[in-house]
Formats: sequence, C-alpha cells, structure tokens
Amino acid sequence: METDKLKLEIAALEHQLGLKKERLNRIQNGCKHDWGQTQFVPDYQEAYYIPSDREQGIELGVDSRPGCYVDAENTRIWTRTCRTCGETQTTQRTKKTLSASNVPGCGCEQEVPDFGG
Ligand SMILES: [Zn+2]
Repeated sequence: METDKLKLEIAALEHQLGLKKERLNRIQNGCKHDWGQTQFVPDYQEAYYIPSDREQGIELGVDSRPGCYVDAENTRIWTRTCRTCGETQTTQRTKKTLSASNVPGCGCEQEVPDFGG
C-alpha cells in the first residue's frame, strides 16, 4: 500500500529531523556567540474588528459576546544573529543604559534592546 510506504518514509524523516535538531542545539548551546549587528524590525498590526458571536452565526443566548475593535499596534522588535552558529535572538524589551561619551562626566541615558544576558 502506498500509504504504508509513506508512513515509513515519514517516520524515517522525523527521526532524522530529531537528530539534526539535537545537533543544532548542541552546537548553539556550546557557542560563545559573536553577535552581529542588531536589526530593528518593527511589526505593524493594522486595526481590525472581531465580529460578535451573533455576526459569526454563533447563538449563545444571553452570553453572546459583542463585537469589538482592536486598535492598530506597532510592536518594536529587534533581532540579532550569531556570526558563528547562526542562532537568532529576538526581543521586544529594552533597557536603559548610559551611553559611552567622549566627554568625561557627560554620559546620557539611552534605550537599547535587551536580549537578556
Ligand atoms: Zn553562536
């Protein structure tokens, strides 16, 4: 049967996939990481409307959920990729840091992406 053959092939591929993921993890976990340039990749989500249960044809009587509008949202996202192992980190968090200044005593606070460690 063709499906039996496909099932066997899928099982073999899944086994290979597991081994490769494990290998990738081992390399990336052991890497000291040499992070490349941090990229700013903002994600803009347009405003949208979630129809009420009634509008979706769901009848729940008194518990019927009303429709609602969701505002447009700009999510700030930063990524960086390791030059050695290719691991990519993504963050939406920032932290305040003192920027280095050439003028002594004149550091100013700056917001930088926080990749956590
Ligand atoms: Zn690395």
